[in-house]
Amino acid sequence: MLLKDFDLTTRNTLALPARAALYLEVGSRERLEALACDLSLKGLRRFVLGGGSNLVLTGDFDGLVLHIAIPGRRCTGEDADHWYVSAGAGENWNDFVRWTLDKGWPGLENLAQIPGSVGAAPVQNIGAYGLEVADRIAGLTAIDTHTGNPLRLSRADCRFAYRSSVFKQEGWHLDGRTAIVEVTFALPKRWTPLTAYAELAAELDARKNAAPNAREIAEAVAAVRRRKLPDPATHPNAGSFFQNPTVDAEKAAELTARDPTMPSYPQADGRVKHAAGWLIERAGWKGKRLGCVGFHEKQALVLVNYGGARASDLAALTHAVQADVKEKFGVDLIPEPVLL
Ligand SMILES: Cc1cc2nc3c(=O)[nH]c(=O)nc-3n(C[C@H](O)[C@H](O)[C@H](O)COP(=O)(O)OP(=O)(O)OC[C@H]3O[C@@H](n4cnc5c(N)ncnc54)[C@H](O)[C@@H]3O)c2cc1C
Repeated sequence: MLLKDFDLTTRNTLALPARAALYLEVGSRERLEALACDLSLKGLRRFVLGGGSNLVLTGDFDGLVLHIAIPGRRCTGEDADHWYVSAGAGENWNDFVRWTLDKGWPGLENLAQIPGSVGAAPVQNIGAYGLEVADRIAGLTAIDTHTGNPLRLSRADCRFAYRSSVFKQEGWHLDGRTAIVEVTFALPKRWTPLTAYAELAAELDARKNAAPNAREIAEAVAAVRRRKLPDPATHPNAGSFFQNPTVDAEKAAELTARDPTMPSYPQADGRVKHAAGWLIERAGWKGKRLGCVGFHEKQALVLVNYGGARASDLAALTHAVQADVKEKFGVDLIPEPVLL
């Protein structure tokens, strides 16, 4: 049912107040196809919403919010190397990961416990503990919400990069034009555990588990995440608020000469990735608040709404920290969540 003047406060994990002129929960691909024929909605701005866990609402939205709630998960085939598993875009990501593990199909365990929906996972190429979802995606199906036409994208078509994909690189996808309806994953039959990530390795060590299976890795990941990340239910947040900045080799050498303890991750293209959380902490913002928003006391990269925050409060804090990190380190911090 098309709802008018819909309150989005409970539909974003930062709990920012905003209203949508129109709101529609979409439970099937056919509903999206039919939408394209609805003349009363022609030309309206659109926004495709999943769980709202990677979103900053900057104000009221004068168009149509399409909340994708398409269910379904199934094994669609297998070959010598992979099981192919498809899921509806509205499936909860963590539930889907747990389901694949229960079925005996490993491969997504390092991404356990990430909030949000299956359909949003490819949009920013979610990643954690040494794995990006791009490494497990075979392809996806989307619908053009203006024409109702299907789009089939292979993994290569998605042009995955660090926290990015074709959906973020080409703005029109995010203008509510493209709604992902189903994602197909290729889960490896010759599975090797990815446990090199320091905090995960330490958790497995503490559990005295030198040869964990995929479910045990998911449990360890979940334990680490619960310990270090504030729960949006009690501390509204959108996870990492800034992307880890990547700089050229010359700039990286300058930064590490100034402070050799600065974490640096050399990339295949010669550039070097630094930890945004470390820069924010060193700039003195960890645990610091401006009014009702602030950076979490245990996790400098997570911006928390401590109650009653509006978009302008968030903007004031993010601009202040961006300017300070730029002045102290000469590095630009780019927000990770999508701004609407
Ligand atoms: C506590 C916490 C921890 C987090 N940890 C991580 C982490 O470890 N790694 C990580 O990568 N991210 C992390 N995130 C960010 C977030 O969970 C992911 O980006 C997630 O994939 C967002 O899913 P969503 O359904 O909530 O998307 P939304 O916030 O609803 O939408 C995000 C973007 O995707 C688009 N979108 C959503 N659904 C669709 C669809 N079906 N079709 C087309 N476009 C769509 C939206 O238009 C929007 O542009 C974290 C967030 C929180 C709150």
